[in-house]
Amino acid sequence: MALEFDSDMAWLVGSEFTLSEVLARLVGEGYVADFRLDDGVRCPNDCDGRATIDSTWRFEGASDPDDESIVLALRCPVCGTRGVLTTAYGSILSGPEALALAALKPTAG
Ligand SMILES: [Zn+2]
Repeated sequence: MALEFDSDMAWLVGSEFTLSEVLARLVGEGYVADFRLDDGVRCPNDCDGRATIDSTWRFEGASDPDDESIVLALRCPVCGTRGVLTTAYGSILSGPEALALAALKPTAG
């Protein structure tokens, strides 16, 4: 299945920034936790929270479109923990990761 985000999702194409610059910026803003990709995207704390998306960054490969990467800035709605999930665009087009990521919703408010 294809990954389809809510149309309200802000896609921030990182044309002005490199992947590492964006990751450094997010860490600086407190996105430091390691969310687990499971049957959903789960909070690393034992709060049973399911992550919501604060922002999404997409990076195109320099020469090969298959090199495209996506960075998700995530938040746990239960305990407020924030973290980053980085994945290759190609790997999220199919399989369990696609299901888990497609189920993510933008952070409310
Ligand atoms: Zn949590």
